[in-house]
Amino acid sequence: MADTAARVQDTSQNDNARKIRPQKTVRNKLAFVEAELAEREQTFRKRQLRSLEPIGGARVRIDGRVLLNFCSNDYLGLSKHPLLRQRAAEFAERFGSGATASRLICGTFSFFDAIEKRLAELKKTETSLIFNSGYQANVAIIPALAGPDSLILSDRLNHNSLIQGARLSKAKVVVFDHGDLDHLCRLLQTHSGYRRKLVITESVFSMDGDRTDMDRLVAIAEQFDALLFVDEAHATGVLGPNGMGLTCGKKVDLAMGTFSKGCGSFGAYVACSQKIKDYLINKCPGIIYSTALPPTVAGSISAALELIPGMEAERKRLHESSEFVRSSLAALGWSSGSSSTPIIPVVVGPDRDTLELSGWLERQGILGTAIRPPTVEEGKSRIRLTVSAAHSGDDLRQLVSAFEQWPGRNTGGRI
Ligand SMILES: *Cc1c(COP(=O)(O)O)cnc(C)c1O
Repeated sequence: MADTAARVQDTSQNDNARKIRPQKTVRNKLAFVEAELAEREQTFRKRQLRSLEPIGGARVRIDGRVLLNFCSNDYLGLSKHPLLRQRAAEFAERFGSGATASRLICGTFSFFDAIEKRLAELKKTETSLIFNSGYQANVAIIPALAGPDSLILSDRLNHNSLIQGARLSKAKVVVFDHGDLDHLCRLLQTHSGYRRKLVITESVFSMDGDRTDMDRLVAIAEQFDALLFVDEAHATGVLGPNGMGLTCGKKVDLAMGTFSKGCGSFGAYVACSQKIKDYLINKCPGIIYSTALPPTVAGSISAALELIPGMEAERKRLHESSEFVRSSLAALGWSSGSSSTPIIPVVVGPDRDTLELSGWLERQGILGTAIRPPTVEEGKSRIRLTVSAAHSGDDLRQLVSAFEQWPGRNTGGRI
């Protein structure tokens, strides 16, 4: 009987009837989960969380061993700075452990004004607005700026949060070749008729460590009357005047950045005009419907902004250390592409070789996590090294020596 009923429903013209047909044979609603995990396993792409404990500024304890950490984004070592920890504790004492509501309800505790004002001074913009994380800022701000009648021009290597934000906006998204501003120009010429145009890129690219030509980018955006959105996640604390990024003093409509990397804390910001801030407060659900950052986090952000302008010596050391690692690796035959920042990609290519190199580094006492697609393009798996001002000369030499001794070095597995 059941069989007959199923057959009748199968031949029905009614799609709905087919959808609700009871599935007697296969009952495994998690089949897609198992299939995906099995595929990831087979292709060397299964990702796993590893528990670890930070030791000082540049080391971690992992599986009972202490490793030199060459993959954190804590470029200045600020996450362990006494002033950040102390200010976090002070703010908790004074304001409590949570912001209790969104910014618009009653979460704009007095410290927000001070931080946003100071940040705007440093970024040389009229004002700024704090967001809860970089990811959240990008997926929230972009759909507030662009809609189905808009055109978004997006760099091919933009961070996932920028890509997701663009998708959520329902705008027409056109991708330009990485860093290729001539291509951007041509696309702006050929795609006309949109009510709004938004160019989205990063000032320092998170996986390649190269930089955008900011002056030219600003000129192009002006020429085509496009809004310009630049993600400074990896430039904040590290590059530009006072270490506050490459957009400082340039005509960038929205300079977004994070406090979670070079600032050693958490959260994000957008530096912009008062008009854009007012617009976002009214039109951006990510600020309207989310509880404000907790006082502890705001405390460490405020301390980081106090320290960063005065950390020229640390930045100098950071850039010298990065140059040392790049040139030493180059001498061993490893290319780090067009990196000119503390992000140094060692592109191996195949996933499996990259994992082997990462495993080798770990046996030599170095944490250098393998980065595989879809985080990077197919065939461009890599060890993404990040240098910190907290690394000593000996730390850097230990890193280079581990690469030098890799047995796979002369048997392929490198570009
Ligand atoms: C890390 C990163 C983000 C996300 O910032 P979080 O504060 O970690 O959420 C956004 N954009 C870029 C380019 C990043 O590298």
